[in-house]
Amino acid sequence: MSGLEVELRYRVLRPPYLYRWAVLLSVVVLAIAAMVSVFTSAEGTPTPAPPPATAPAAAPATAAASADLVRGTARTGKFVALTFDDGPDPVYTPQILDALTRAGAVATFCMIGANVTRHPELVRAVLARGMRLCDHTVSHDEDLGKRTEQRVTAEIAGCWSDLQVAAGADVPVPYFRAPGGSWTDLIRDVAARQGMKALSWSVDSRDWTLPGAAQIVTTVQRTVQPGAVVLLHDGGGKRAQTVEALDQLLPWLVAQGYQFDFPA
Ligand SMILES: [Zn+2]
Repeated sequence: MSGLEVELRYRVLRPPYLYRWAVLLSVVVLAIAAMVSVFTSAEGTPTPAPPPATAPAAAPATAAASADLVRGTARTGKFVALTFDDGPDPVYTPQILDALTRAGAVATFCMIGANVTRHPELVRAVLARGMRLCDHTVSHDEDLGKRTEQRVTAEIAGCWSDLQVAAGADVPVPYFRAPGGSWTDLIRDVAARQGMKALSWSVDSRDWTLPGAAQIVTTVQRTVQPGAVVLLHDGGGKRAQTVEALDQLLPWLVAQGYQFDFPA
């Protein structure tokens, strides 16, 4: 027999081709079954599948959390959210707390970590009056947007830690406000990762320009509207004008039918 004949004969006389295909198919089916069982039974154990599944989901969530700056009150209606930056200050923060308490008002205090460390008792006083905390970085670096991610994280997480240590307990810090209101995507992302909302404002009292108490009152009266977040200062300089302005503004807001709320 020639080689060709042998081969033809072999092919024709050996039906096991079918058998081989059956074996091959079985192996493939068993392999798939094994893979399926690994993926379904191994919850929590690292497999190649989870990272691609969670990474794209996490990215939009972070983006969504950091996409919008908070500029409004939590509740809708005739509410206003007062915010005080750059404290706590041993002279002005207690005076502002007293003014707020007299008016039955609440406010949010955006504190600088360095001041928090110097006056931890004021963090506890702010919390005891039912006010909320906002992280305003450790050192109030207005060029924070030009810093590395490591530095930005240190400034933001550092102030958050300073607030926890000062409070002597685990306290909520729902907001972060960038120094000078200078936001970058990185700053917003780091704050969001720390679980804080990016807090901006809709009304600038311009008390930081020291225009006189009467002008601060007029500026807020002209620009406030339901749902406003108002920027004021209890630290970062002499704030006697702000304290004096509050003595007029708080009763005026109440008379206008405003209620005090926190930012959204
Ligand atoms: Zn500030």
